[in-house]
Amino acid sequence: MTWLVQSRLLNDPFSDPGVYLDVRFGRRALLFDLGDLGRLSAREVMRVSDAFVSHTHMDHFGGFDRLLRLCLHRPAPLRLVGPPGIVDQVEHRLRSYTWNLLGSDAVDFRLIVHEVEADRIARSAEFRSREAFRRRGHAPPALAPGRVLDEEAFRMETVALDHGIPSLAFALVEPVRVNVLQGALEAQGLPVGPWLAEAKRAARRGAPDETRIAVADGVTVALGALRETVLRLGPGQKVAYVTDAADTPENAARIVALARGADHLFIEAAFLEADRDVAARTRHLTAARAGALARAAGARHLTTFHHSARYLERPGAVEAEARAAFRGEGPTGAASDERT
Ligand SMILES: [Zn+2]
Ligand SMILES: [Zn+2]
Repeated sequence: MTWLVQSRLLNDPFSDPGVYLDVRFGRRALLFDLGDLGRLSAREVMRVSDAFVSHTHMDHFGGFDRLLRLCLHRPAPLRLVGPPGIVDQVEHRLRSYTWNLLGSDAVDFRLIVHEVEADRIARSAEFRSREAFRRRGHAPPALAPGRVLDEEAFRMETVALDHGIPSLAFALVEPVRVNVLQGALEAQGLPVGPWLAEAKRAARRGAPDETRIAVADGVTVALGALRETVLRLGPGQKVAYVTDAADTPENAARIVALARGADHLFIEAAFLEADRDVAARTRHLTAARAGALARAAGARHLTTFHHSARYLERPGAVEAEARAAFRGEGPTGAASDERT
């Protein structure tokens, strides 16, 4: 089975947060948060179609300029999803630069910003380079509650967490995985071609067995026959991203629901349990709590980040505490999920 996306932390866990999601076969990538993007190549940055911003504290949004700088001359639009206030903030950022050089012969780069309130996109705006990024109205997409992107192959879910301000957590969900078995394709004497994409789409939709798929001129095959031989359906991938959240029962419930069954959970672990008072004051999770939440959600893989610089002298300590809780070990393990 091949994964829909390959995900990785942008920086070491003590540096600014961000996760790069490379969409396979799509020449496309997604970003969770816009911290320091300096380690991404220009080519990687230019593949980003959508960026999902938890909140606009500088460590999560400071990379916006690099993203804009590199995407400025590309024809494909860039979509940004973020918390309440992000449309105004992006507008202010754009107005802090001079745009007289982007005339009518320049590519009309479009930046579309969606603002999430509670569990939905409440307002949107568009900024076009040829208009010197003057703000213009944009109709918010009509999506189910809790979704900020809904495409054929995957969707993006969100919940708002309490960090003193709203901090959005996200989960990329691939509802169904459809793989093509090359060997079976050859055995059936079927050619490789664009028809496979159509067959995968139909399978993903759950179209009836008798649906005819056009393989070549005048040649069609029933979807049911393809399901039995060439196509393999399985559970899809889920990648969740959780950061900057106070340790409250409401946040815990939302995190566990969002990350339930995730193949990979990226979750902040700012402080050690021994410094719980600092974590509470700054509305961050401790490593033990991050591990316990990952365990409660049944996540398969765990990556922690956003470690406080106070632990630079013992860099493995934070991750070790989170891992122990993830395995259900120690006094701050799974049992602490019941704490209110
Ligand atoms: Zn923050
Ligand atoms: Zn932060």
